[in-house]
Amino acid sequence: MASPSARFIFEGRTASPGFARGPLVRIDQAPRTSRPPGTRYEEESALRAALDETADQIATLAGAAGGDAAAILEFQLVLLEDASLIEPIFATIAAGTAADAAWSQGLAEQIAEYQAAPDEYQRARASDLIDLRDRVRAALIGGTGSCDQIPAGAVICAEDLPPSRFLEIDWSEGGGVALLQGSPTSHVAMLARSRGVPMIVQLGTLPRSAGTALLDGGEARLELDPTDAQVAAFETRRVAHVRASALTASLLTGPPATCGSETVGLHINIQRIADLDHPDARYADGIGLMRTEFLFADPAGMPDETTQLSVYEAVLHWASGRPVTIRTVDAGGDKPIPGFTEDGEANPFLGVRGLRLCLKRPEIFSVQLRALARAAVQGKLKVMFPMVTLPAEFIAARELFSGVVAELRSAGTAAALPELGMMVEVPAAALTIDAFPAAFFSIGSNDLAQYVMACDRSNGALGALIDPLNPALLELIRRTVEHGRRQGLGVSLCGDMAGEPRCAAALLRCGLREFSMNPASLARVKQSITAFGRERAP
Ligand code: PEP
Ligand code: MG
Repeated sequence: MASPSARFIFEGRTASPGFARGPLVRIDQAPRTSRPPGTRYEEESALRAALDETADQIATLAGAAGGDAAAILEFQLVLLEDASLIEPIFATIAAGTAADAAWSQGLAEQIAEYQAAPDEYQRARASDLIDLRDRVRAALIGGTGSCDQIPAGAVICAEDLPPSRFLEIDWSEGGGVALLQGSPTSHVAMLARSRGVPMIVQLGTLPRSAGTALLDGGEARLELDPTDAQVAAFETRRVAHVRASALTASLLTGPPATCGSETVGLHINIQRIADLDHPDARYADGIGLMRTEFLFADPAGMPDETTQLSVYEAVLHWASGRPVTIRTVDAGGDKPIPGFTEDGEANPFLGVRGLRLCLKRPEIFSVQLRALARAAVQGKLKVMFPMVTLPAEFIAARELFSGVVAELRSAGTAAALPELGMMVEVPAAALTIDAFPAAFFSIGSNDLAQYVMACDRSNGALGALIDPLNPALLELIRRTVEHGRRQGLGVSLCGDMAGEPRCAAALLRCGLREFSMNPASLARVKQSITAFGRERAP
């Protein structure tokens, strides 16, 4: 049976770890009133003024916050000027609807589209549109309630919280966020992680009022009106968390990992820009693998050149001079993309995937290459191709890329051919590695293991057979690393085994000195590498 206090404990999903203890403050929803329609001219002018006012508010917030927040708010500013969104709304006003009703109707369709997207990342974009809807409505009808009244250190509760409202709150004295809905992949969750503000999402329902709230972001647990014993237990967990974070930070900010006299590079893998918000990501030597499939999962269709360019620019901006390796889209296998990958393949893992598919669909591939060529002038960009099997494929992709660069330049657009490398994840490529004219190699141990061991990587029943420490896999890794050393070419490993501390020693013995992994694994892998290096020290 539940204890008397159990009804005041709520569980959701983690969006940002950390602890907050303070008063629970509910942020009100947008006003539900409407304004009586004026003449067409009055309504059009009112909407124009409201759009301008909203754009000013967001631009001011972006200017004050800078960095990642500015990039996030940019999405909203672009939408406010998007003719395909705005013009139909003015047409509705022309047909006799009041500005606020026309605006809400126009946004409702877009919001519903994002909310219905199969991909959680896309669904999370709906909250940015809801913010725009509410801000413009507030400018037309009256305020939504300001964030000035929020006491320092409060736990903010709302259905969802748009990034712009998050940025209006002063977090300098702590505090946290408890959302009834929301998503860990939303923009506001990214901001919370990067600013160390604890956040729980998807709490469902909460009482409208409560006194003190204890928020444990990592455990996704919210306790309201706690007893003294609950407060004491919460404080014990909070102190332990602070100590553990300090330990990790001291390891990651300490001297670089070494093996003998050689430095070991520790890079990160990212699937989405949000992964850069992980608190340990900043300590990486660079980005060793940026998967780009997420860009192609937009239900609205294939991403255009500008959309892709803005994402690549944001990543290069984050890296601020550190190397960034972006992998061209690896569709197919376990990553089908409607409208792009082949339907009805009997065995998609052995089918038209990765570079094979891109070479078959140059009209889609060249859009990505154009965006990458334009991004290449803005930072230390390296590009690699996935699933390369034959040297001829690599050469064909390189030629296509060179052609794209020449085309852009002749049209007066700044572009460059980045350093071109390849994933080594097909056994045939690993066995004939010296035949590939690549500038660097990145070993994809996830696929390499499944093809070497004839085990579908997604079949849990084969988990024991697909052990990364299998000598056959290690032999292919060793040969690839040795080739790189002989030729003076970089070799990194970006499959999951790079992030497994138990594999570090075996990989170092193969000669590997560049690892790329999820940011969360950096500290533990660094610890294993350091321990191995110490054992080997003379
Ligand atoms: C790999 O195969 O090891 C790899 C990094 O690529 P992915 O997991 O995206 O196939
Ligand atoms: Mg792979």
